[in-house]
Amino acid sequence: MSVILTLLAALIATGACAYHRSSLRTWAIATVIATVVVGLIAGAPWTTFILVVIELAIAVPLLMDGFRRKQISAPLLKIFAKVTPKLSETEQTALEAGTVGFEGELFSGKPDWHELLKQPKPELSVEEQAYLDGPVEELCGMIDDWQITHELADLPPDVWAFIKKHKFFGMIIPKQYGGLGFSALAHSAVLQKLATMSATVASTVAVPNSLGPAELLLHYGSDEQKNHYLPRLAIGEEIPCFALTGPYAGSDATSITDFGVVCKQVVDGVETLGMKLTFDKRYITLAPIATVVGLAFRLYDPEKLLGDKEDLGITLALLPRSTPGLEIGRRHFPLNVPFQNGPLHGKDVFVPMSVLIGGPHMAGHGWRMLVECLSVGRAISLPSNATGGVRAAVAATGAYARMRKQFGLSIARFEGVEEALARIGGLTYATAALSRATAAAVDRGEKPAVPSAIAKYHATEWGRTIAGDALDVHGGKGVQLGPKNYAGRAWQGVPIAITVEGANIMTRSLMIFGQGAIRCHPYVLKEMQALSIPDYGDRLKAFDRALFGHIGFGISNAVRSLTLGLTGSRIGDTAGDAYVRRYYRKLNRYSAALALCADVFMGVLGGKLKFKEKLSARLGDVLSYLYIASAMLKRYEDTGRPEADRPLLAWAFHECMWRIQTALDGAIRNFPVRPVSWLLRALVFPWGRREVPPSDRLGRRVAAIITAPGEARDRLTEWTYLTPTANNTIGRMNALLPDVIAAEPVERKFGKAQKAGQFKSHDYVGQLVEAMQAGVINTAEFELLKRVREGVFEFISVDDFDPSELRAAVTRADLKKKLADAA
Ligand SMILES: Cc1cc2nc3c(=O)[nH]c(=O)nc-3n(C[C@H](O)[C@H](O)[C@H](O)COP(=O)(O)OP(=O)(O)OC[C@H]3O[C@@H](n4cnc5c(N)ncnc54)[C@H](O)[C@@H]3O)c2cc1C
Repeated sequence: MSVILTLLAALIATGACAYHRSSLRTWAIATVIATVVVGLIAGAPWTTFILVVIELAIAVPLLMDGFRRKQISAPLLKIFAKVTPKLSETEQTALEAGTVGFEGELFSGKPDWHELLKQPKPELSVEEQAYLDGPVEELCGMIDDWQITHELADLPPDVWAFIKKHKFFGMIIPKQYGGLGFSALAHSAVLQKLATMSATVASTVAVPNSLGPAELLLHYGSDEQKNHYLPRLAIGEEIPCFALTGPYAGSDATSITDFGVVCKQVVDGVETLGMKLTFDKRYITLAPIATVVGLAFRLYDPEKLLGDKEDLGITLALLPRSTPGLEIGRRHFPLNVPFQNGPLHGKDVFVPMSVLIGGPHMAGHGWRMLVECLSVGRAISLPSNATGGVRAAVAATGAYARMRKQFGLSIARFEGVEEALARIGGLTYATAALSRATAAAVDRGEKPAVPSAIAKYHATEWGRTIAGDALDVHGGKGVQLGPKNYAGRAWQGVPIAITVEGANIMTRSLMIFGQGAIRCHPYVLKEMQALSIPDYGDRLKAFDRALFGHIGFGISNAVRSLTLGLTGSRIGDTAGDAYVRRYYRKLNRYSAALALCADVFMGVLGGKLKFKEKLSARLGDVLSYLYIASAMLKRYEDTGRPEADRPLLAWAFHECMWRIQTALDGAIRNFPVRPVSWLLRALVFPWGRREVPPSDRLGRRVAAIITAPGEARDRLTEWTYLTPTANNTIGRMNALLPDVIAAEPVERKFGKAQKAGQFKSHDYVGQLVEAMQAGVINTAEFELLKRVREGVFEFISVDDFDPSELRAAVTRADLKKKLADAA
């Protein structure tokens, strides 16, 4: 017994030090003292002696810097240098671009919640709010999405003119160049509101404000280029596009085959240094109408006219549309969401060196320029458009499910429908918090490489889930396209968002964990960077520091994961009110589990992990859901901990925890080295898998929130265009919703009388009249039921067409004939 007590004392002291991340020195002192005190009191001198010898044998060599470096770190450095995959220049650039924000805390295994909560609450300025209530509201009032998507396959001229006049294309351009100079939050809010009316309009506005000529000019343009282009881009006098993708370069944008060759050519009688460009680009948004084309290509200088390098690398230029040889104007047709998108080509197109963004000295720096700017645009455009879409789905589906009756009841009352409504409400809460958090990160000056990938992936994937649920709840009404259908085009267009700016499969499998593990991990990047230090002594010192920090970090995470797992996340640092305190503790637990698994996976699999995408995707999921859950908790605090939002927060939080558990379980289960997998399972799930998905009862509360007006629903549908204008069915449905709800008890009275066979008339209004005459309902109730019946009829109606209306105005045969006649 005395031996066990002594061992236990040493173990508890070790565990407590590891849990709290004490230094090696503190651990040595604490463990020796605990062993000696308990050992002697318990009467186990020999055990005490042996344990103290072991403890000192571990601590002393490790505390002797010179010995430790030479005998331990030096051989490990050799092995590490051998097994670490050499990063290509492009991978290196991608890893170095961007900053690390709160996601770094989530990867630390011990997040500091006060860091999160002290971040300023993101808010719109008065001017930005006025823009949202003014021009954005007005533009929403002008949009007829059926006209855009079916009749014109383009925005009508008045919408184009309004967009340009009110500087929708200049949101990220500073005021000194005539732009709006908006915050990322305002930019996001504008896109969200437009997306609630039309994916085509939102995409059209998103692109010039995302990665493209304006963003690149702002960061790298020469003063002359900035002064020329930015004021013209701000007011839409120039329409930009940015062309990177081609047939052979999609997800792997570095593999572009488009090239330029530096040469001299006589232009207007003057010998001019320039390039001959050959390119074949596709999928380029706004290209068909662009007046200035941002072009990415690989530049070669075989005659060494610029310097002594022949292959200069990826280079970016701005070509005016009038450039001779630039073939542009044809369109692609992305899934009936007809924003301008098309190919462009050129062969041996000569342009002067002055077209390079930033001037000739920026030749070859294109990849760095792109990755440095990519995260900012990706953090805003697609997450915002997706968030607008899901907010509209809440407003539309919540109202529709309440007013659509089957079997004598609102379809919202059926549990099957309720399940879909709960997903719509809960996931919208999460999506909105996520996109707000990434916009706020941009406003804090971050270049959020990892959060932007998380936001892009999850906002669009949840957009896909919610669009599907919304369509299911609408039944035939969602499927029949026409001016009355507000859900079909959003559902059709979702795969576009899934594909662009880093297609989702790759974003999940390669980018989120791949970048997150190296960028956010407190030691991995330092270890890798140590390898490139030229002086051996400095290299060894840096490696030694990182390595032992890393080992302590790993031990601590194993202890934290096990302790928090054993206690069911009931202990540990926390923040927030009594309702959410347990949520923070759960996040502590899974943060430690992620950090532990990441270390073990990287340590055991090394460079092979890069190709084990199914494993890294799952660890990326864990990081994502930790980030999303943190964003929701921050939102809950920022909105003053509203009680009304708790069901939404709880549903979304439990969903995230359930998904984290599934991801961790899948990663551990499929880890190829079985004993390691067993050990991880014991440390991560000591009591097995205990998380459960959100309960049916919670789902009912969420469904109730989105099917009736209220403050939580208002927050969910923030930045949704709900003005009940003629072009806005969703707005008018929401305006009728209070009447629909007020009518429900009256309908029940009327229904009883109807079932009792009290009425002779077969017609609804006729029966209402009889009910009023019989005193079943009063005059005001008669008016209410009549008004609701008429209103609802409009919203459940669908379109029908003369067959000729559905035929394409120009068939292929017509076009062939036209072209032949012209020839
Ligand atoms: C409507 C639209 C607008 C666009 N606008 C522009 C624009 O303005 N400018 C521009 O330059 N480009 C634009 N793009 C291009 C867009 O960014 C690319 O389509 C995208 O990068 C994917 O390339 P891809 O379509 O060739 O797919 P591919 O690269 O062929 O990918 C096919 C599938 O394989 C997956 N995949 C590829 N590599 C990996 C990997 N290593 N691991 C796991 N999965 C992988 C992808 O996720 C995808 O699911 C646009 C595309 C579309 C459809």
